[in-house]
Amino acid sequence: MSSYKVIPCSGIGKVHGAIAREAAIETCKKSNGECELVCLAHLVSGDEDAKEKLKDVQCITIDGCPAMCAAVNVKLAGGEIKESVRVIDEMKKHRGIKPGTATYLEEDGWKVVDNIAENICNTLDLGRVEAK
Ligand code: SF4
Repeated sequence: MSSYKVIPCSGIGKVHGAIAREAAIETCKKSNGECELVCLAHLVSGDEDAKEKLKDVQCITIDGCPAMCAAVNVKLAGGEIKESVRVIDEMKKHRGIKPGTATYLEEDGWKVVDNIAENICNTLDLGRVEAK
């Protein structure tokens, strides 16, 4: 079983949401099987199977903006959050970049995706073992 569940927000209409989703996928790729994605919408719908996935594991949430929909709803579903990231905070470190749009990430946007995934993996020491 994966050590961490990764839940991105469902941001639509802004580049921050697109980055959150891609960063969640990239984190899972870099983790070599130590992370697994969980669908936020599935959790929010109150589905018991989705809630069950959060039992006895730690969660990583990646949110586009300060509303922090992923973090708020993971907590409401009883999940324990080990790491919570906001795309907006990462973007502040790179003022003036052109990340792309809600539907298309430019090279700068992919760099932010990579930075977020790399930071999470470094912080939690993920992806150090060979893929299973
Ligand atoms: S955290 Fe912000 S960008 Fe993400 S779903 Fe919520 S309101 Fe939208």
